[in-house]
Amino acid sequence: MSTATDLPPALGEAARSYLEREHLLLIGDERRAAADGRTFTTEDPASGSVIATVPQAGEADVDAAVAAARDALEGDWAKLPAARRGRLIAALADAIEAHTVELAELEALDQGKPVTLARAVDVRATAAHFHYFSGWPTKISGDTLPVSQPNLFCYTRREPVGVCAQIIPWNFPLLMAAWKLGPALAAGCTSVLKPAEQTPLTALRLGELALEVGFPPGVINVLTGDGETGAALVAHPDVDKIAFTGSTAVGREIGAQAGRDLKRVTLELGGKSANIVLADADPAAAVRNAFQAIYFNSGQACNAGSRLFLPVERYDAVVAELAERAAATKLGPGLDPDTQLGPLVSAEQHDRVRGFVERGIADGAELLAGGSATPLGEDQSGHFFAPTLFSVTGDELEIAREEIFGPVLVASPYSSLEEVAMRANDSDYGLAAGVVTSDLSAAHRLAAMLKAGSVYINQWGLSDPSAPFGGFKASGVGREHGREGLESYLETKTVWVGL
Ligand code: ADP
Repeated sequence: MSTATDLPPALGEAARSYLEREHLLLIGDERRAAADGRTFTTEDPASGSVIATVPQAGEADVDAAVAAARDALEGDWAKLPAARRGRLIAALADAIEAHTVELAELEALDQGKPVTLARAVDVRATAAHFHYFSGWPTKISGDTLPVSQPNLFCYTRREPVGVCAQIIPWNFPLLMAAWKLGPALAAGCTSVLKPAEQTPLTALRLGELALEVGFPPGVINVLTGDGETGAALVAHPDVDKIAFTGSTAVGREIGAQAGRDLKRVTLELGGKSANIVLADADPAAAVRNAFQAIYFNSGQACNAGSRLFLPVERYDAVVAELAERAAATKLGPGLDPDTQLGPLVSAEQHDRVRGFVERGIADGAELLAGGSATPLGEDQSGHFFAPTLFSVTGDELEIAREEIFGPVLVASPYSSLEEVAMRANDSDYGLAAGVVTSDLSAAHRLAAMLKAGSVYINQWGLSDPSAPFGGFKASGVGREHGREGLESYLETKTVWVGL
């Protein structure tokens, strides 16, 4: 709970009254404290002030939530006709739209992102995701199979995988919840959703909205907690599938555990995505694209375009313009409508980004913009970090290889298409890549050469509920969105009938 005086005056009435309530776990139809009474706080990253206290779910809460999800899976939810399931998902999408301002403000306050972005991207795309998946339940069907043996009828059924543990990160908290829940609900699964400890609020609110629109209790359970809570969920023997978005390090652990337990698993992990500008590209368009690719959401996006490859003959002009634009960017609290870049999500993330930048400077990379924490005045103790641009000549430095997850771009010159494709692919990651050019033939040739789950040509980072998203190599396992995203929540059962 917060007191009204702690909260920024810019906060609207709905978000304020939500924050002033007691925050509790959502298990079945109950809102309850953690069984052992533990709590933790979440803060406004623009000021460092505590905005809410939430329960820290422990093993007993994980047991209770998984049991509620199992009961729902085998009870009311399983009996619901597909059309009714679709209508409930659509009702949730409508409820999200109806609460746009409240949800955008909660996200801006808890995560730090500009409220304009939270509204136009996070909340809008969340509603769109549920709307898209609301159409799927009535289209899930098996096949009849032309088996060779006589007097047999063979068909497949598509059935929900079961109870899903869905663990999400802090960069797009509400949207990541929708990416996980949309296909799970459409498939007829039930979920225990665990938001990140830095940003627990919108997932709790989403769970409440789902109950309000009529989802049977236990279909969506929300546990707030940290990595310990996540690990207990992953290890729980009655969880059938794990869906995780987060760091590659944690993803590896979860993948290994899921392998040992033979649970279904999808992982959406890190990236170090290459953005390639070709020599014919309009320099202004290249600057706009590169800026958006890296600095959007303060660089806290798994598909951020964090490596920029520029043709050697265009290099100096493009980096000079980018550095100028980075230096002119207005940093500020998410709730200020003029803010272009919000703070990083936490002091820990700020330290991490600063560490990378300091080591980049020590390693000899040329710093062209930013590179420092940016205090916004005496009364600000937020986690702001200036948009940063480095210039390097090769790809061996840590800042050119490791995911930083902050507003740090590393630019480098190249000479030929083959060279740049090879360098772009010389990474453990393979989440996204981009090309800026008006030479469509070169763009498509590169798109085929790049080892990445998404290739963006003349834009960066567009997403749609129908378009598969996920990684090659260490960037993940499986795809979210669209039919492929749905498939990962379905089992296939083959039925043989002797005639
Ligand atoms: P970051 O380092 O950026 O915070 P993480 O991968 O640690 O990213 O966190 C992403 C999500 O995974 C969060 O919800 C976090 O609580 C959860 N998490 C962290 N460690 C574990 C773990 N060992 N098992 C399961 N979930 C975890």
